[in-house]
Amino acid sequence: MKKVLVTGGTGYIGSHTVVALIEKGYQVVIADNLYNSNEGVLNAIAGITGVRPAFEQVDLADEAACMALFRKHADIEAVIHFAAYKSVNESVSKPLDYYRNNLNSLMWVLRGMEAVGCKRIVFSSSCTVYGQPDVLPVKETMPYQEATCPYGNTKRIAEEILKDVVRADRDKHEGRSELKVLLLRYFNPIGAHESALIGELPNGVPNNLMPFITQTAAGIRECLSVFGSDYDTPDGTPQRDYIHVCDLADAHVCAMEYMASDDFSGWDAFNVGCGRPYGVLDVIRSFEKMSGVKLPYKICGRRAGDIEKIWGDVEKANRKLGWRAKRGLDEMTLSAWRWQQHLQEKA
Ligand code: NAD
Repeated sequence: MKKVLVTGGTGYIGSHTVVALIEKGYQVVIADNLYNSNEGVLNAIAGITGVRPAFEQVDLADEAACMALFRKHADIEAVIHFAAYKSVNESVSKPLDYYRNNLNSLMWVLRGMEAVGCKRIVFSSSCTVYGQPDVLPVKETMPYQEATCPYGNTKRIAEEILKDVVRADRDKHEGRSELKVLLLRYFNPIGAHESALIGELPNGVPNNLMPFITQTAAGIRECLSVFGSDYDTPDGTPQRDYIHVCDLADAHVCAMEYMASDDFSGWDAFNVGCGRPYGVLDVIRSFEKMSGVKLPYKICGRRAGDIEKIWGDVEKANRKLGWRAKRGLDEMTLSAWRWQQHLQEKA
C-alpha cells in the first residue's frame, strides 16, 4: 500500500484530504502539533472511513523532532505538506512567528525527505501569490506580485525554496530532477464533509467569510459585516473563487497519481478553484436559501489588504491532473451550515 505522510493532517483541508486518500487505498501517517486542531479529528476520520490513521504529534519547525519523524517513517513514498500558520491578519502582527513556523517546517520536511530518499511532495500554496492580477482568470504563468502580508510572503518564498531544491536536484542528475514537487495554489476553500463530522474549526473571531456567516446564523456573532460595496464588481462586493473543501481534497489525490507517473518530473504549479467568481452577496444569498436562516448583515467600508477580485484559470489542473471541481456554491454553503450545527450539538 502506498504510504503518505500528511503534515497538518488534523487541520481543515488536511483532514478532508486524509479521508479522500484513505478512500483511495492510501496508508496515511498524519504529523501535526495540534496548534490549530485536535486529536478528536482522528476519531471523526475513523468514523467516516473506518480507518484510524497513524498519528504523530510533532512540531515540524523543530529540526530534531522532524528528523526523528522521518527516521521512524522512512518508508513513506510521498509527503503532502499542509502544516502552516494561515491567518493573514495575525501574520501582520506576528511576522517572525509566521516566517519561523511556515518556512522552517518546510525546510526540515525537505531535509527529512532527503534523509530517507523520499522524492515526492505536494505543497499547499495559495492564490495570494498572485496579489491582485491584471488579467482574470489568473493563469499559473502569471508572475508573482508583492505579497500584502507576511503569510502571503511565506507562500511565495516557500515556492522559491522548492524551485531551488528542484534545480539543485536536476543539476545532480544530468538535467532530470528525481525530486518531484507539485504546488497546488488554492483559491478559497469553504464547506465541510457531507457527514458533518469534519470541517473548519473556529479559532477566535473568524477572518474568513464562511465561518463568519455560519457563526452569525448560529447566533454566536451578532451581525455579519460586508467589507466594501463599491468595488468594480457586479454587486460591488469583492469576488472570490470559492471551492468545496472536498473537491480540493480530491485534487490532492489526483496530484498524487499524477506525480507517480513518468510524465511528471521537477516542479509544477496548479490552480485549484472552481474557475468562477462569486461576490459576498452571492454567498449570503446561497446560504440563506440552503439553510433557511435569514442573515443579519451590514455593509461597511472596505477592509485594508483585501483585493478586489480574483478567480483562477483551472484548465491546467483539469487537463493534466484529470481533476475537476464537482460541487457548486449551494453545496458548499449547506455543508458549512451542517458542520456548524454539528459543532453546536457537540458543545
Ligand atoms: P489549518 O490551520 O486548519 O491546518 C493546518 C494544520 O497544521 C493545523 O492542524 C496545525 O495544527 C498544523 N500545524 C501548523 N504548524 C505546524 C507545525 N509547525 N508542526 C506541525 N503541525 C503544524 O489550515 P488549513 O486551512 O487546513 O490550511 C492548510 C494549508 O493550506 C496551509 O498551508 C494553508 O496556508 C494553506 N491554505 C489554506 C487556505 C484556506 O483558506 N484555508 C487557502 C490557501 C492555502
